[in-house]
Amino acid sequence: MVYDVVIIGAGVTGAAVARELSRYKDLNVCVLEKEEDVCSGTSKANSAIVHAGFDAAEGSLMAKLNVEGNEMMDELCEDLDIPFKRNGSLVVCIHKEELPGLKDLYDRGVKNGVKDLKILSKEEVKAMEPNLSDNALGALYAPTGGIICPFILNIAMAENANVNGVDFRFNTEVENLRKDENGIWHIRTNNGEYLTKYIVNAAGVYADKFHNMVSEKKIHITARRGDYCLLDHEMGEYVSHTIFPQPTKLGKGVLVSPTVHGNLIVGPTAVDIEDKEATATTADGINDLMEKSGMNVDNLNVRRKVITSFAGLRAHEDGHEFIINWVDDAPGFFDCAGIESPGLSSSPAIGRMVAKMFKEKLSLSEKSDWISKRKGIVITKELSIEERNELIKKNPAYGTIVCRCESITEGEILDAIHRPLGARSLDGVKRRVRAGMGRCQAGFCSPKTMEILNRELGIPMEKITKSGGKSNIVLERTKGGRD
Ligand SMILES: Cc1cc2nc3c(=O)[nH]c(=O)nc-3n(C[C@H](O)[C@H](O)[C@H](O)COP(=O)(O)OP(=O)(O)OC[C@H]3O[C@@H](n4cnc5c(N)ncnc54)[C@H](O)[C@@H]3O)c2cc1C
Repeated sequence: MVYDVVIIGAGVTGAAVARELSRYKDLNVCVLEKEEDVCSGTSKANSAIVHAGFDAAEGSLMAKLNVEGNEMMDELCEDLDIPFKRNGSLVVCIHKEELPGLKDLYDRGVKNGVKDLKILSKEEVKAMEPNLSDNALGALYAPTGGIICPFILNIAMAENANVNGVDFRFNTEVENLRKDENGIWHIRTNNGEYLTKYIVNAAGVYADKFHNMVSEKKIHITARRGDYCLLDHEMGEYVSHTIFPQPTKLGKGVLVSPTVHGNLIVGPTAVDIEDKEATATTADGINDLMEKSGMNVDNLNVRRKVITSFAGLRAHEDGHEFIINWVDDAPGFFDCAGIESPGLSSSPAIGRMVAKMFKEKLSLSEKSDWISKRKGIVITKELSIEERNELIKKNPAYGTIVCRCESITEGEILDAIHRPLGARSLDGVKRRVRAGMGRCQAGFCSPKTMEILNRELGIPMEKITKSGGKSNIVLERTKGGRD
């Protein structure tokens, strides 16, 4: 079969493009992903902030798509049942000499089209955030800033694309690209060859590799690692806005923010590295973020309240700009490269922009039966007692708690497994329903979740993985018993 479009990468960019392309009639689209699930690259490890859009350079594509993506978020999250909250962000100034920088950010934000920006005095900002450092001299307030579940944003867009006919192939690593004399692309993977008329390169930190395979005009992406600490629910209300320091050349700096699930997140650092797989945190990184987060927020006891740490890799292109376009010297090849922050915030707008460009080039017309909405997994802990009882009567699996820290039931895990593009690993379950995301970090619920995966999918216990590949949890059977 020859696809019309093959998208490389099932991160938030690939998923947004897939969803938008799924609106069109007579367009066969396939997403190839080297990992075992969607949301396995940078889209799973970031600050989860929907940026307001004052940070990106005026007139840049980054600024335009950030502001547009931010504006699209309410409707998208409503349609696809994605946890999202406009909690507002504050860029705090603690040194007198930083005050002009605050005004520059304000001016840039206004030019970028960010609404309702305001510069707050020391008293105003302290009234809004009592735990802010006494050194705070003022802040830029952006009420349109928000927090989102990055996993569900990615998963929901992919699920919805799949429901609308897009194929997804996991554990399928693209190795080589070649175009034949008829203009058809041959995509060699570890899982056979795929043929397509058009390719969308949404491969995150590897987007330069595929661009450079087909084009003479080379681009270069550096992996810029950011370390994080996630703090316990107990700290979830320590601040209510996203607290940024003033940005630097390396990025937006170490933030302190509530998450949409009631934790507190602290990070990221910014270190340029060579290895595009190096997502382990470092002691230096964690120490750095502890020191920097303490400059804006008082008595933030990261060391005592941390429940996990992780790192993500920004796909930093040398020009520090999104590269979203047809590649001139490789007809039929489309880049979504250099999608670093604010890539998450911009993703709905990136999807819309790419689809518009495909629509114009291929004269596409929309399906009349496109499904725009998705119903998310029921979160039982958010239901009233009466609603829970009703649910349990219909399906007793909603009466069994599997993850005690996050109060996740077996019913929710079953839904995560059996819905379109369902979970096949512990992390797949975790990202869909948060089982294993709490204080004990899956210490208690892993065996139970493994049993459910084993029973529902018929995967032998020894083959169940944390996140695909060789991340098996148990190696072999030591005693008798069922599979
Ligand atoms: C530290 C940090 C903080 C951030 N904070 C924010 C924030 O708060 N707000 C915001 O808006 N943005 C933020 N971002 C940016 C945002 O996370 C990214 O822009 C976004 O996730 C990029 O999505 P993507 O789909 O382009 O890349 P990815 O999510 O990396 O997806 C690319 C996919 O391609 C796959 N792939 C790669 N090579 C191959 C191959 N050979 N074959 C098949 N598949 C392949 C990968 O496995 C991966 O799944 C942050 C990023 C980092 C690192």
